[in-house]
Amino acid sequence: MKQMYEKSQPVFSLSHVSYRYDAKAPLVLADVSLHVQPGEIVVILGPSGSGKSTIFRLLSQLDSPEQGSVTSPEKVGFMPQDDLLLPWRRVIEQAMLPLEIQGFKRKDARRLVEDRLQTFGLEETADKYPKELSGGMKQRVSLLRAAMAGQNTLLLDEPFSKLDALTRVSMQEWLLQIWEEESLTILFITHDLDEALLLADRVLLFTEMPLMTPIETVVPLGRPRNAEDITKPEAQAVKRDWLQRLKHGRERTIAASD
Ligand code: ADP
Ligand code: MG
Repeated sequence: MKQMYEKSQPVFSLSHVSYRYDAKAPLVLADVSLHVQPGEIVVILGPSGSGKSTIFRLLSQLDSPEQGSVTSPEKVGFMPQDDLLLPWRRVIEQAMLPLEIQGFKRKDARRLVEDRLQTFGLEETADKYPKELSGGMKQRVSLLRAAMAGQNTLLLDEPFSKLDALTRVSMQEWLLQIWEEESLTILFITHDLDEALLLADRVLLFTEMPLMTPIETVVPLGRPRNAEDITKPEAQAVKRDWLQRLKHGRERTIAASD
């Protein structure tokens, strides 16, 4: 019964969406459809400059499509590539901000954030300022703030791409843990094939510009999952397939623009 309800109620969806930045510009999205069900982590994988962030622009209602329809929750937590923390606010105050904007009293906002500091590994750093934090810690704060804003539905746009490789892996494993503990629904953008394999239930691979119907892969790895799992042969076979498709997509894009 639950399954049927969820199937009919995606958290995020694009149906036959076409979009361009202005009337004379080429299409960035050409008849794109995608759906994210409650509790899923879906990863959008595609080359840089292909239009991935544009999908988030539409899902966060910053703009509307030329054709097709977009649905997303009223409140969405958005985490961009840069952490965009306010230098003059302490960690706890960064996370309180979206609640204050929604009209919560400071005292109540503080209590709600305090309840989640431990889960996000920020108990010790609650009173610190951004300049006192490492890159990984800043991303944790940014994610907590997004979770407070979005009532557990998150759009994450390459959030770990600026971290060094080892910090990135520990943040990815940490995100998976939070996702399970907090029953989050996540749509995650990356151009990193390993990140997609580690995180996703389903990967939507875009290979050509403009973006069209993505190629969907159900990642053949169980849960809980850790960074070593992506070295398994079944995961590496998927990665090989993606690399070939991306290469062909690049060739077709170049041919089309000649
Ligand atoms: P990605 O996130 O995959 O790197 P984007 O969605 O940022 O790609 O960009 C897709 C295309 O749209 C690019 O060609 C980019 O130059 C163009 N674009 C992105 N943002 C804007 C904007 N604000 N105005 C006009 N063109 C844009
Ligand atoms: Mg982008």
